[in-house]
Amino acid sequence: MVRKVSDHIYLIDTVALGLEEFVAAYLITGSSENALVDTGYASSLSNIVEELRQVGLRLHEIKYIIPTHLHLDHSGAASHIIKNSSKSLILCHPRAVKHFIDPSRLIASVREIYGESAALFGEVIPVPLENIRGVHEYEKLELGDVTLRFIHAPGHAPHQIVVYVEEDQALITGDAVSIQYPSSPVKIPTTPPPSYNHAETLETLEKLSKISSKIILRPHFGETPYTLNYFKEEVEILQNWRDRIRAFIEQGLTLDEIIESLLEEYDQRYRGLLRTLPSLHTTVRLSVLGMMKYLEEER
Ligand SMILES: [Zn+2]
Repeated sequence: MVRKVSDHIYLIDTVALGLEEFVAAYLITGSSENALVDTGYASSLSNIVEELRQVGLRLHEIKYIIPTHLHLDHSGAASHIIKNSSKSLILCHPRAVKHFIDPSRLIASVREIYGESAALFGEVIPVPLENIRGVHEYEKLELGDVTLRFIHAPGHAPHQIVVYVEEDQALITGDAVSIQYPSSPVKIPTTPPPSYNHAETLETLEKLSKISSKIILRPHFGETPYTLNYFKEEVEILQNWRDRIRAFIEQGLTLDEIIESLLEEYDQRYRGLLRTLPSLHTTVRLSVLGMMKYLEEER
């Protein structure tokens, strides 16, 4: 499924791991160049190719590939797109560059977190040096009649960027904001290991709240009109999440008990709705693990 979400932007459903409305990528079409923000998993590449075809584009017509961060649901297909389109260029956070060129540490970290199921994400292959460069804070990129602005957005991961599309006043957030699937009102914080940083996330949200956005475009999943309270609510959700997990730890609950308690809370609040959410258990588990690690290191 591909659909237009603003003047120059299409939402591409990557149908990650066979699930619809789970992982989105955003195609920005300028009068001189096109860019793809986030790519989905390597295993979703054929879906992306098909959806680009539906808007009349082929891989080599995407000049810029812009993974918001290294997590494979955002960056996995990037190196494969380069393999098929040697003139394209990956633009990313400066701290992510070395991991695209030599993904061995990234691969090890994904295996450690996901175990066997990491195989479902597809193969991670290196990117040639000449096909990648880091973008600096507030760097501008012109695609003809549309301008992108890159914002460093650490927190969810240290190597995250957010992309602002000036003419559309659209903010493509990466995982700087929580997960909310179209089928559900539940917002789930995304605070995963190995490097979630709560203080940096709050700083990033503060920074993003100062940008004049009309529309928020989230990878998980879809578009939301911007409202004045948008980022304030995001901060509240995260603070509440930290407080809940901290309290559970102080009560001496184990990881599994914490996950169970939080899932039960969700279930009571949003009866029935949760069963339709993709990978809820995994998301909650990872977000608990990442926050626990952060709280431990903070001490
Ligand atoms: Zn993600």
